[in-house]
Amino acid sequence: MHGEEISFVNEAFERNWIAPLGFNCDSFEQELCEYLADSGEELHGLSLSSGTAALHLAVKLAGVKRGDIVLCSDMTFSATVNPISYEGGVQVFVDSERETWNMDPRALELAFKKYPQAKVVMLVHLYGTPAKMDEISEVCTRHNAVLIEDAAEALSSTYKGKQAGSFGKYGIVSFNGNKIITSSGGGMLVSKSKADRDKAFFWATQSREKAPWYQHEEIGYNYRMSNVVAGIGRGQLLHLDEHRDAKVEIYKRYKDGFKNLPIAMNPYLDNSRPNHWLSCMTIDKKCAISFMDIYEKLNDANIESRPIWKPMHMQPVFKGHDCVKVENEYVDEDIFGRGLCLPSDIKMTEEEQARVIETVKRCF
Ligand SMILES: *Cc1c(COP(=O)(O)O)cnc(C)c1O
Repeated sequence: MHGEEISFVNEAFERNWIAPLGFNCDSFEQELCEYLADSGEELHGLSLSSGTAALHLAVKLAGVKRGDIVLCSDMTFSATVNPISYEGGVQVFVDSERETWNMDPRALELAFKKYPQAKVVMLVHLYGTPAKMDEISEVCTRHNAVLIEDAAEALSSTYKGKQAGSFGKYGIVSFNGNKIITSSGGGMLVSKSKADRDKAFFWATQSREKAPWYQHEEIGYNYRMSNVVAGIGRGQLLHLDEHRDAKVEIYKRYKDGFKNLPIAMNPYLDNSRPNHWLSCMTIDKKCAISFMDIYEKLNDANIESRPIWKPMHMQPVFKGHDCVKVENEYVDEDIFGRGLCLPSDIKMTEEEQARVIETVKRCF
């Protein structure tokens, strides 16, 4: 927290406007959309109780019905793909490529060949690294599919200068406690259409029809963000670029620190600027040391690290779901088997990070 957050929160208290909805929500939506939009582009935001709620409403807006196939990023956090099940849709997973660790456009093309009936694609920008957006967008357009962009980890990341979350028909970001900015919890749905935004608002506020009494013709949800929470988000948004710059420095220090080791940092394209939400490493293939050895060594030194997101096709809950790949092996299984997320918090000092780097070095 920086200070501005509490002044927006105080304003909510002073005006005695603590409820869901309210001036902080309205302003937060507008300010975030201004941040994300290209010049001349109009985006419509809806502040919600979580990124997961935003994903759920995006899946509904995309028209996913019982039995519909949705082509999804395979290596991600489960929240990306769970909302498809809420609507009775069926996830077909798509393997990653090695240049950004995100959905491989070639595998997506193959998935459309296999499942020509698929009309929705769920894409994540993992760890804040933008996916191959030109290729992914081209494949989606050619197959007439709706693209939903999960930018929960990628707020402030850009691809060819355009903000992650602003590519798809629907984009979502998260303000959960672990994300690049936080409102304590919450999310935003971003849409290119005002009508879609308004429809999502209707669902998020219990689907109340226009009538003097409580009239319901559709199932609704209580997904709105509170005016207090939105105040925290507004204050944080003022520091988003500063958070990103600090994350970029952390990534650079790791890259520099590991340069003579059989270690690679999570890759990105020259045409993109990741926010480096998490700095991740993989150990070279031939190396005898496993990521769990490093995990244990870091843990012994009281340093927390995490394995890479375990691919969805390896999760028991998605047993039996197809996962489409173009290489002989699953690229994401390979990355998962050699990768580790490193401490990336912007409150970490240079000395603390030097200790992380030294501890990793000692493993070799
Ligand atoms: C955090 C996260 C979400 C969910 O956001 P919440 O606000 O925690 O519901 C979705 N997708 C990805 C990739 C995430 O990292």
